Amino acid sequence: MKNLNKNYINGEWVEWRGDTIDVNEAATGDVIAKVPASGRAVMEQAIESAQSAFESWSETSLDQRIKVIEQLHAGLKERAAEIAETVSREVGMPIKLATGIQAGLPATVTGSYLKMLPDFPFSEQVGNSEVQKVPVGVVGCITPWNYPLHQVILKVVPALAAGCTIVLKPSEIAPMSAYILADILDGTDLPKGVFNMVCGLGEDAGDTLIKHPAVRMVSFTGSTRTGSLIAHAAADDFKRFALEMGGKSASVILPDADLKAAVKGTVNNCLLNSGQTCTALTRMLVPADLHDEACELAAEAVGKMTPGNPLEETTRLGPLASAQQRDKVIDYIKLGIEEGATLVTGGPEAPDGLEAGYFVKATVFGNVKPGSRLAQEEIFGPVLCIIPYQDEKDAIRIANGTDFGLSGAVWSGDQDNAKKIAGKLRTGQVFVNGGAFNPLAPFGGFGHSGIGREFGKWGLEEFLEVRSLQL
Ligand code: NAD
Repeated sequence: MKNLNKNYINGEWVEWRGDTIDVNEAATGDVIAKVPASGRAVMEQAIESAQSAFESWSETSLDQRIKVIEQLHAGLKERAAEIAETVSREVGMPIKLATGIQAGLPATVTGSYLKMLPDFPFSEQVGNSEVQKVPVGVVGCITPWNYPLHQVILKVVPALAAGCTIVLKPSEIAPMSAYILADILDGTDLPKGVFNMVCGLGEDAGDTLIKHPAVRMVSFTGSTRTGSLIAHAAADDFKRFALEMGGKSASVILPDADLKAAVKGTVNNCLLNSGQTCTALTRMLVPADLHDEACELAAEAVGKMTPGNPLEETTRLGPLASAQQRDKVIDYIKLGIEEGATLVTGGPEAPDGLEAGYFVKATVFGNVKPGSRLAQEEIFGPVLCIIPYQDEKDAIRIANGTDFGLSGAVWSGDQDNAKKIAGKLRTGQVFVNGGAFNPLAPFGGFGHSGIGREFGKWGLEEFLEVRSLQL
């Protein structure tokens, strides 16, 4: 792939001559790319470029912005196979899933904005006032590694549509799909300086971006720890911010649910992208008298997910994205054993024949105590906690008993009762009896899982200030 030793600033690929960051192939650990460990000076240059481009881009017509987003949409579809393979290599998601999700979702989300934008009310009349929605200014976008292009698109497309200019700092662990995006945007009619991308470490390039006074909003997806740093930094000069952070989501299986289907649905969700999914249903709450049966069904479902080379069409479970993440997950599996949870399947050893790369055995714990660290902390790996509950009230208490509130699920033979229980979960979204994902519905968290929403009109409004003209 070209330009990996460069940053994209003011419409040009700018050579980087300093330290670099290794990008590793998840399945082998081999270095597959070296990208810039850019410092403050380069980040400042990119911010100045976005600042200079703001006035004219903010005054473009919606039609002009839609045209660029259409060109981006076409580019994403054209390069889907390259995107899928790139993300599969750097993150470890099996190629079949990466094709549908890592490459497919960015195009779907971009398409959903193209459908929505022509009718979006950028201005409305309220009595004698014209209420205008105007771009917030220069936006800093900071993204993680698990769905690396999807998370970038969820910020870049609505920010461009709003009339904002952008500096993107992609994840240093999986930055390569962002280079494909910058290359696509370089081939569109986007004016110079509207989109800039600087690759680097969080504490250096990222820190400069979140503290620079010209940046009027930070849109962040990543860990709760970094989100807290961003909220503190933003307070100093009253930047806006939107934070999409971690989760420890509960799948509540009610006594009248189809247990086999509910367990299978939960296991598949929990293991998607080897558990490296912020919305993963990592706590499965089951009636105490169905606990042992649920453990057996979970072990059976996990047994079908043999780990393997993510580039093979038949693989369903890939490695984790980095050595650091693999080691963290293994430590949590050891902790679960120490805390006295029942190891149903899996364990801390590497899967047979997959000692190279960042593989971890898909692991299920039963009889997990709701207050234990295993049940409270985000593991971000293929680890499912099964927690027995006594009655509905107990299930709701356990489901809401973490600092997080990103996602959840309820399974029941009675759809109305499932909806009633879903309405008691303090989370940004709840899947009722396996309801389908909807790219036009708002996505985000309660509590430590986030502030703000992405997707659809809610995602666009994050990038808009409101001005009233009293007429
Ligand atoms: P992370 O917070 O370590 O890094 C995310 C980004 O922040 C990276 O680009 C990193 O370089 C940057 N960063 C780190 N320190 C920084 C600093 N001091 N200043 C500025 N930027 C800094 O997160 P990660 O490990 O890459 O991603 C995993 C986390 O992301 C998990 O907690 C997961 O739940 C969360 N996540 C949330 C969502 C969501 O939509 N809610 C989606 C995906 C992932």
